[in-house]
Amino acid sequence: MATQKNSAAEEAAKKALAAVNAKKAAEKKTAEKTKVEHTYTQVGQQSSNKEELLAVTRKNALPFRIGAIVCWVLAIACEIMAILIFVHKVEFSFTTENPGWTIAWIVALVLDLAFLIVGSQLWKKANHLDPASKKNEFLFWLQNNLGVIVAAFAFIPFIILVLLDKNASKQSKMIATIVAVVALLVGGLTSYDFNPISQEEMLDAVGVETVYWTASGTVFHAYDDCSHLNHSVELMTGTSTTAIEKGKTRLCKTCEARAEKEAEAAGIDLTDLPAAQ
Ligand SMILES: [Zn+2]
Repeated sequence: MATQKNSAAEEAAKKALAAVNAKKAAEKKTAEKTKVEHTYTQVGQQSSNKEELLAVTRKNALPFRIGAIVCWVLAIACEIMAILIFVHKVEFSFTTENPGWTIAWIVALVLDLAFLIVGSQLWKKANHLDPASKKNEFLFWLQNNLGVIVAAFAFIPFIILVLLDKNASKQSKMIATIVAVVALLVGGLTSYDFNPISQEEMLDAVGVETVYWTASGTVFHAYDDCSHLNHSVELMTGTSTTAIEKGKTRLCKTCEARAEKEAEAAGIDLTDLPAAQ
């Protein structure tokens, strides 16, 4: 009995060892395969203080903020058009009867949604280039949720006015309400920033000597062999301050986890380090 048990345990240990070796070999193979020879472009010139840096990020974000506001104004204009068509205040030759009338206000609502989504993406991009400060909790919330607020304004007035309309049939009102509620949900969710960044988080990353980034990305990396950099041959390198100026306002999450792990292995407690100025 005892020998049988021992041989079973031995067998299991052998299998486990084989599995570990196979995994190691596979990892080595993929590491070789994904190794990219990067070319580096050193980027210099950085702001010398916090105010200067914030002026640069504000300037970077400005075109996106203007674009967002223009799109949102167009979204509300489309909503007003949808309302006016629905209540027959605006009429075209093809909207006097169905299906022209129904198609016309649905198209207006779809355009409303499209402008809202584009505007909100531009707004989110602006908030990542130039994050709001957490010092004022309300303003931080407002800036990060403005897209969702605009989404409410882009559909709720339509829903209310449709429900109050005395001329339209019950069926038309129901279709209009469903379409607008779906658009409100889609618009609200796509406008919401699930991963907002604060100005304090951005400034915390300032002062790192060498970081890496790509032209297209929105983050910078602490390691040039980061798995997210495998696809790009051309890497920019400079200080984290320069990276922020170039619109890469946050450290890549993978690099952050790796840095924490390495610090832990080296016995450095990151919470003991003074915050970067
Ligand atoms: Zn990374």
